[in-house]
Amino acid sequence: MLKSIRLALALSVITLTGFAVTPAMSASLKVVASFSVIGDFAKNVGGERVEITTIVGPDGDAHVYEPKPADAAAVAKADLILVNGLHFEGFLRRLIETSAPKGTIVELTKGVEPIAFKTEFAEAKESGYAGDEGHKHDEGHEHEDHDHGAIDPHAFQSIPNARIYVKNIAEAFCAADTDGCVDYQTNAAAYIEKLDALDAEMREAIALIPQNKRTVITSHDAFGYFEHEYGLAFLAPQGLATSSEPSAADVAKLVKQIRQDKASAIFMENITNPALIQQIARETGIKVGGTLYSDALSPPDGPAATYIDMMHNNIRQIKGAILGS
Ligand SMILES: [Zn+2]
Repeated sequence: MLKSIRLALALSVITLTGFAVTPAMSASLKVVASFSVIGDFAKNVGGERVEITTIVGPDGDAHVYEPKPADAAAVAKADLILVNGLHFEGFLRRLIETSAPKGTIVELTKGVEPIAFKTEFAEAKESGYAGDEGHKHDEGHEHEDHDHGAIDPHAFQSIPNARIYVKNIAEAFCAADTDGCVDYQTNAAAYIEKLDALDAEMREAIALIPQNKRTVITSHDAFGYFEHEYGLAFLAPQGLATSSEPSAADVAKLVKQIRQDKASAIFMENITNPALIQQIARETGIKVGGTLYSDALSPPDGPAATYIDMMHNNIRQIKGAILGS
């Protein structure tokens, strides 16, 4: 009798425990990430507690992406919308306007020291970048008043900046879900440790490249922060805007500069049309060194499915093309 009561109690405890666990199994936060790199950061910080919808997916181009009705629906019901800011996402203002989100929009470049574009190909850059929304402010950021055409938004290409993105994500998750804060902080700290190791690896790899072999060509100006942080020089015919077609004169000017600067390697990017790079490779006689992942991760089975893999891939490609190893 006693035994069966105990068993019944034990069973009810198990049942109750089982029941109590169920809500924690479903995500506490609905998060929208504007593009794949941010989606990856958010997953590393949020773990099981967050449900992430990424708008611009693998190999996608956030500069020219056209939002779909499903994107607006996800933004409308999200608790948090994580964006790069600095006008990286060409679609953002329109998407926010059409979806009227209840959640908080978090600009992850907050705290990053913005850098300006180089000026060699400024005409092409500015004409392309002024584009449809370049001169408008995003909702909720009226206080920022800078010259958008001159600021490089690809801050995530520097690992020290990636640390800032991750800290901003942890802070936003903590504010929106205090119960999960310890988890978020723990996850962020563990991920930042991996980023620190990655940063050290990058510096070691680049130290192996002789100073006179550190100029490389990519399609668009995605690597300004990489250049600034790690000391490689990138030349790009398309400037910022992946949608802009450089004029024949721009291309000729670049080819001339490539010869002058003795560029060591030329790369395609996962998000841009390879035709222009192939043309420049033909005209300069520099062999295409492979594909760099600039503004998006690869699909899960590709070489850059996570931010860490993306940085590994890029440095491997650069080192391989320049040093042949
Ligand atoms: Zn870009």
